[in-house]
Amino acid sequence: VAKDAGKDRWRRYESSLHSAVVERHKLRADLDRAIADGAFLLHFQPIVGIGDGRTHGFEALVRWNHPTRGMVSPAEFISVAEESGLIVPLGAWVLRNAVEAAAQWRLLHPGEDVYVSVNVSARQFRGQFKGPEQSFARWVLDEIDRMGLPPASLLVEMTESLLLHDDGEVTAELAELRAAGVRIAIDDFGTGFSSLSYLRRLPVDVLKLDKSFIDTIASSAEQHAVVDMIVQLAAILQLQIVAEGIETEAERDLLVAMGCHLGQGYLFSRPLSYGDASQWLLEEASGLQRGSRTAA
Ligand code: C2E
Ligand code: MG
Ligand code: MG
Ligand code: MG
Repeated sequence: VAKDAGKDRWRRYESSLHSAVVERHKLRADLDRAIADGAFLLHFQPIVGIGDGRTHGFEALVRWNHPTRGMVSPAEFISVAEESGLIVPLGAWVLRNAVEAAAQWRLLHPGEDVYVSVNVSARQFRGQFKGPEQSFARWVLDEIDRMGLPPASLLVEMTESLLLHDDGEVTAELAELRAAGVRIAIDDFGTGFSSLSYLRRLPVDVLKLDKSFIDTIASSAEQHAVVDMIVQLAAILQLQIVAEGIETEAERDLLVAMGCHLGQGYLFSRPLSYGDASQWLLEEASGLQRGSRTAA
């Protein structure tokens, strides 16, 4: 009986493994068609001054409107797109549309220069753009130039692991972008293995403090102390901190008290459609009180 149960468990394990592989395979085939089908869209989450709620920028977050599954989260398909190489055209599509949105907002609100923050994967640096002679950095600078967006209105977000596994090539391109005025952020900061010395030699302007830290600052004295130290460290290194995933007033108040000035999270706003993000700016410009809003 025990042996049968073991076999049975194995079969179930095997079949769930099998369906996971099949599932990924299907997702990949669908993804390949999605760009041509115009099935991707961007949502924009406000990055605000957490003390006064004023908008400093928006993070562009890609969404996939799948024909049968509905809205698929990037958590489900970015890794598949990275494996298949589709992240190169998809990432290019994201950057181009994000830059276009930021350029539009500049036209609508000349006084307020909100920036756009774009997530970039390692693979994109090795992608072929217009030709093998053109680097990713050069391509990005051409895109923002074409849209008339000042380089300082673009923030490029990279994860720590990407930077850690770099043999110097990515760092060199980031330095090129930074020399032109584009700002660079480390995303999900604190989840990797960053050390002080490593931060000093990277071309970085902003640390995006991972949500997992924010989640525990109000309940754990130890985590509170860790975040407090990171905020102080960032000040010494002259890095800006953006706190991710602020959901409660308690979290916000603790961050303000620590001297963390910028953040994003459901407390302020969920990611918004382009139209709602434009409306968000319009209401801010006219000093109207905002209601809470969710992207469809
Ligand atoms: P991320 O870059 O760390 O983005 C923040 C994620 O946290 C977003 O999830 C956002 O919707 C979510 N979030 C923001 N505030 C809150 C909050 O208060 N509470 C909670 N529970 N969540 C919050 P999303 O949009 O599902 O994106 C997931 C990840 O997918 C992103 O994490 C990013 O790593 C990746 N991603 C999204 N768009 C792109 C893209 O265009 N290119 C690449 N390479 N990756 C992308
Ligand atoms: Mg991000
Ligand atoms: Mg993040
Ligand atoms: Mg995150």
